[in-house]
Amino acid sequence: MPGYETEVRALLRQYCEPLGEISQDKLGSLICRQPGDGPKVLLAGHMDEIGFIVRHVTKEGFVKFLQLGGWWDQVLLGHRVVIKTHKGDVTGVIGAKPPHLLQTEERNKIVIKDEMYIDVGATSKEEAENAGIRVGDPVVPQSAFEIMANGKSYLCKAFDNRIGCALVIDTLRHYAQAGNAANQIYGVSTVMEEVGVRGATTSVRAIDPDVAIILEADIAGDVPGIKPEESDVKLGGGPSLMVYDARMIPNIKLRDRVVETAAAERIPLQYSLMPGGATDGAAIHMHGTGVPTVVLGVPARHIHSHGSIIHRDDYDNAVKLLIALVGRLDRGMVDSLT
Ligand SMILES: [Zn+2]
Repeated sequence: MPGYETEVRALLRQYCEPLGEISQDKLGSLICRQPGDGPKVLLAGHMDEIGFIVRHVTKEGFVKFLQLGGWWDQVLLGHRVVIKTHKGDVTGVIGAKPPHLLQTEERNKIVIKDEMYIDVGATSKEEAENAGIRVGDPVVPQSAFEIMANGKSYLCKAFDNRIGCALVIDTLRHYAQAGNAANQIYGVSTVMEEVGVRGATTSVRAIDPDVAIILEADIAGDVPGIKPEESDVKLGGGPSLMVYDARMIPNIKLRDRVVETAAAERIPLQYSLMPGGATDGAAIHMHGTGVPTVVLGVPARHIHSHGSIIHRDDYDNAVKLLIALVGRLDRGMVDSLT
C-alpha cells in the first residue's frame, strides 16, 4: 500500500538479493543493479497496491476510512479487508445495510465511500482499539490468489502491480544467468505510485538512466460494457504497448523498437491508450533533460478491485519481449533514440 510498503519490499528484496547489488532511495524504492558496460537501462514496476487508511473509529466500534489510490465506490461493499495494526492483522468487512431493510429509493442509490465503514465485529470503540486499531493504520483488500478453470487465467487482487515487479525480477534473473554485454540494468520496485508516482520521481534521480521501460498491469477491454474504441486489448492477446496516457507520450523511436522486437521474436503485441490515467513513466521520462521511455503492460481485467484477472500466456510473452528488448539496448541503439 502507498507509504506502507515495508512488508512487500522485504519480499521483493529476498527475490532481488541474489540478482544484483541492492540499494534503496530515501522514500523506500528498492533498486537492484546489475553492473556492466554500456547505457543504464531502468526497468520499473511499482510495489504499492491501492488500499485504505483508518480515519476514525466510531463509538460503536466501526472503522471509517480514507482511500489511498483510485477506488470506485461500487466495487467496495461486502468485501473483506485486513487492517494492519501494531498488534497484528485484523479482518473486517466493508459494511452496507442489508437489502431487507432498504427503502425502494435507497436500493437504487449508489452508496458512496464516505457512507461506508469497516465492520471488524466489535461492539464498542474500546473493543476495536483493544484489537490494535489506531487512526492511520493501513487497510488492504483480502483476496487469495487462485488459478481459474482454464488453467491459464489467474485471479487475485493487486496484479496492478505485482505483475510489473515480477517482470522486473524475471528479467534480472535471466540476465544474472545469461550475462549481459549490452548495458547495465537497474531493476526498480517503486513506492507510492498509486498516489502520484512519488517513488518513481525520487528513484530515477538515484539512477539517472539513459533509457527506461515501465512495467504495468494494463486495462483489458474485453469485458461487457467497454467499446472497442475505448480499449480493444484482450486477455490472452499478448503484452500491450502503451502508446498514449494522460501524462506521457512514449519516445517514438523506442516505441518502434518495441514493435520491431516483438515482430522479430514472433511475440503477439497489442496497443493501448489510457487517456484517464498515468504510470511511473510520467515522472521518469521527465527526469533531467528527458529519458526515452516506454510502458509495457500485461492486460488485466477488473484492476483496482478485489479480483483482477490476468492470462499466463500474456505474462510469459511479456517476459520474452522484455528480455529481447533489453538485449538490444546497447550504446548505439540508446544513442539513436534521442
Ligand atoms: Zn499500476
